Amino acid sequence: MLQNEDILRLSHKVAQSGHWYIRLNDNTLFWSEEVFLLHGMSPNATHPTVDNALSFYHPKDRDRVEALINETIETGKPLSFEARIVRVDGDVRWVETLGELKSSPSSNTRYLFGIFRDITENQQQRMHNQRLAWVLENTQELILMTDSNGRINWANSAFETLSGYSLEEARGHKPGDLLQGPETDPQTIAYMRDCVARQQGFSCEVLNYTKGGAYYWLRISCQPEFDSDGKLYGFNSIQTDITQSKQIRLDLEAEINERRRLEEQLRYLATHDELSTLPNRRHFLEQAEKEVERARRHGRPLSLLMIDMDHFKRINDQYGHSTGDEVIQTFAERCQGMLRKSDTAARIGGEEFSVLLPETDNDSGRRMAERLRSLIADEPIKTQAGPIQLTLSIGVSTYRQDSPSVEAMIQEADRRLYEAKDNGRDQVV
Ligand code: GH3
Ligand code: MG
Ligand code: MG
Repeated sequence: MLQNEDILRLSHKVAQSGHWYIRLNDNTLFWSEEVFLLHGMSPNATHPTVDNALSFYHPKDRDRVEALINETIETGKPLSFEARIVRVDGDVRWVETLGELKSSPSSNTRYLFGIFRDITENQQQRMHNQRLAWVLENTQELILMTDSNGRINWANSAFETLSGYSLEEARGHKPGDLLQGPETDPQTIAYMRDCVARQQGFSCEVLNYTKGGAYYWLRISCQPEFDSDGKLYGFNSIQTDITQSKQIRLDLEAEINERRRLEEQLRYLATHDELSTLPNRRHFLEQAEKEVERARRHGRPLSLLMIDMDHFKRINDQYGHSTGDEVIQTFAERCQGMLRKSDTAARIGGEEFSVLLPETDNDSGRRMAERLRSLIADEPIKTQAGPIQLTLSIGVSTYRQDSPSVEAMIQEADRRLYEAKDNGRDQVV
């Protein structure tokens, strides 16, 4: 059978604690084995006197401890304190002492009875926690903790400073509801929600808003925390304010895009004619070189049209130059509308145009030219000055293996164009 005494000893061992009492009638002190051990002494040593026992306390704590003990003896108030002892080996340990007065009416004896417990490790843990708390509070990073429902339950002062919300205001809210706004990327929001729903960590860059409505950019690294049963306990989020670098990056991107747009515009201006919006002569010649090369290499047909508007001077003379411009624009539109994607129509002179027709032999080229001629001749061109009848003279040439050059094709088409003019205009040669 285990005696009460044994049970007490066992529980002391488990709790790293011992017990003691002072018989106040004659001021004798009793220490349990564990108390000796906690002082670094043999359990068989003789029990110390009260003064001896007090002298184990750290010099800085001794007076306070003595005063507390005396207070308990005088007032009967329970004893409770934490203090340092210096063990016989010089090691300093933190101990907790709890005690109370007891009297035995039969023997008319009063005792101060207490337990004595080594709390050095708790104390170290507490110190460590204090340091962690200090670091969390003083870091530049924003630290946010949520409960298992994703609601904020703690945030550090870096969060309060940047977001403008106090911890009290933020507590209980979901970070997304509180901090994200109109310009926050919906895809990023969806990504974060998805990770939270799956209880997974994530990291991303996100645009948040302060309480006052100003935006800021964060790089977020968020991790779930699980309890020992594997149940979600909450999320810990470390967030870095990247507003400045992000802004620099965004500005740079905008600048690059603007430069690209300008380059694109310049390229367009360099290769296109402003009035008709058709490719210009230079672009046409480049295109023609490519097509001639392709026709040569693959033995494919290629046709070229040279077009000159008939009596265009008269239109200018009769209706004015701007009406002439309108005619050129409408012609370009109709011509473009008729062509295939692979064809290239270009304005190569004032009212002279050229069309490149890949994969088109002479017969088809002539048919295309005829279609274009009648497309213009059959329907007067509407201008501010009224409808204007326009006709075209067109010369057609086709790529020939024996004279494989752009110049040759242009010369040939030009010659035929003059023939068309000589033959009375409004025709295809
Ligand atoms: P032809 O039938 O012999 O070709 O007679 P034409 O009057 O058309 O004579 P030509 O082709 O030699 O003259 C072209 C005229 O087109 C000369 C010029 O004033 C006019 N022209 C050239 N470029 C433009 C332009 O951009 N706008 C306008 N309105 N007129 C232009
Ligand atoms: Mg001309
Ligand atoms: Mg002309």
